[in-house]
Amino acid sequence: MCSLRVLLSAGQIHARIAELGAQIDRDYAAAGPVYLVGILKGACFFLADLARAMKTPARLEFVGISSYGKGRTTSGEVRLTKDLDVSVEGQDVIVVEDIVDSGITLSYLIQVFQQRHPRSLRIATLLDKPERRQRPVRVDYVGFRIPDQFVVGYGLDYAEDYRNLRDICVLELDN
Ligand code: 5GP
Repeated sequence: MCSLRVLLSAGQIHARIAELGAQIDRDYAAAGPVYLVGILKGACFFLADLARAMKTPARLEFVGISSYGKGRTTSGEVRLTKDLDVSVEGQDVIVVEDIVDSGITLSYLIQVFQQRHPRSLRIATLLDKPERRQRPVRVDYVGFRIPDQFVVGYGLDYAEDYRNLRDICVLELDN
């Protein structure tokens, strides 16, 4: 059995993403298009809402990675399962992630994207759990800093469930 407790409501998420969109517009004034690269599948709703919260022209791309598997702990191994469909050489790129935990996934992806020689590379994450960091990563746009709890909803899953919850909830497993 497990229970769900709302940590961030749909309204709070929406309001914060509007602020992030405005911040990106200020940072990329007169630039564009910006390539938003979403990490499947967790970042899908965040990317969709962030893209519409910005006025800066955006192009949408996705990469797939394997990391957590079906459990709640990281395997420590990251692998690209779907690459970009286009070259981003000379382009402004924002990698859009759902949550930064140990930092292992993002530090791997930053390395992958730097090899593609973008003009600029920034990171946006909806959630950040700084307490759990094992690899230092510089995140440019952070939605919310949250405590070390396992969360689901708004794209985030537990064994592929709960992704379509509108709120972000703490998943508590009862033993
Ligand atoms: P990291 O490599 O930073 O440890 O992990 C990043 C990935 O782990 C995220 O993209 C996400 O898939 C998963 N992850 C980390 N914390 C959570 C969490 O609290 N809930 C869920 N559903 N996934 C998480």
